Amino acid sequence: MRAAIYNGPRDLTVGERPDPRIQASTDAIVRVTLACVCGSDLWYYRGQSAHDQGAIGHEFIGVVDEVGADVRDLRPGDLVVAPFTWSDGTCELCRAGWYANCLHGGGFGNHGIDGGQGEAVRVPFADATLVKVPGFGHSDETLRSVLALSDVACTGNHAAVSAGVGPGMTVAVVGDGAVGLSAVLAARRLGAERIVALSRNPARQAVAREFGATDVVADRGDAAVEAVKALTGGLGVEAALECVGTGESMATAFAIARSGGMVGAVGAPHDVVVPIDTVIFRNVGLRGGVAPARKYIPELLAAVLAGEINPGRVFDFETDLEHLVDGYDAMDERRAIKSLVRVGAA
Ligand SMILES: [Zn+2]
Repeated sequence: MRAAIYNGPRDLTVGERPDPRIQASTDAIVRVTLACVCGSDLWYYRGQSAHDQGAIGHEFIGVVDEVGADVRDLRPGDLVVAPFTWSDGTCELCRAGWYANCLHGGGFGNHGIDGGQGEAVRVPFADATLVKVPGFGHSDETLRSVLALSDVACTGNHAAVSAGVGPGMTVAVVGDGAVGLSAVLAARRLGAERIVALSRNPARQAVAREFGATDVVADRGDAAVEAVKALTGGLGVEAALECVGTGESMATAFAIARSGGMVGAVGAPHDVVVPIDTVIFRNVGLRGGVAPARKYIPELLAAVLAGEINPGRVFDFETDLEHLVDGYDAMDERRAIKSLVRVGAA
């Protein structure tokens, strides 16, 4: 099959990889229809995080092509969305809702596991991992939003859930990438009244407004902190959603949180220090982590299919598998928020 092959930093090609085959009776083979490039793929592309040579990509939707003998809930022809990690659904951590920390799970597109940026993927624990998309004849707009559930919509949701966002609350989102914008959308869906998006990019500001941001702050650093405080009676926000993963973004999130507030952090950390003095002396909490996407997909999928949310709006660049690198470059050069990759026919 054709698939992306990570050879090293700035060296990504599309070539031939072995066709995936059923290896365990609980596996399914999914023929990928739509995939996308994640901000975390850029860390690998830039050589800032380690990645095995071989398959890459962890966000995809597709059609079930083949199932193992013990797969009961899926059959060939089913349209499915995959969370970016697979999980058995039965271990103690899965039963507690921590699917991304499954005792027997893992992530797609690294360590010898097929990636979403390819024509087909072997999915372990298929019944527990994949979520079937009901109905048929979905519009392209709907399918783009279903694709967003594979990672960014769930990760943004996890930031908001982790920070305890609820009705009437005042929230700020640090980061205007696809995850940050998805966090705005999540805060709105969870009932936040005031949502401040930190962004200096007009195209991203527009999506943030469309997703529910009530205010936009274009400053950075200390100026951003002052601007958010000015909007919140000098106090800061009840929930600060950190969706970048740098030291500066984490410092900003803690600084704009009001005393007694909570930081919901989902950015993969690079040189981040948690300000423990703020945690202790201002009672600002920290929660977050790798999103249990499998937990959130069913409710978010229902909201997409009901037309209540449109998380696929984050895709503003489009290419096909053979031109995948164009999608990486568009994001790397910040010409695109997020790149969609058309792989196979539905
Ligand atoms: Zn598990």
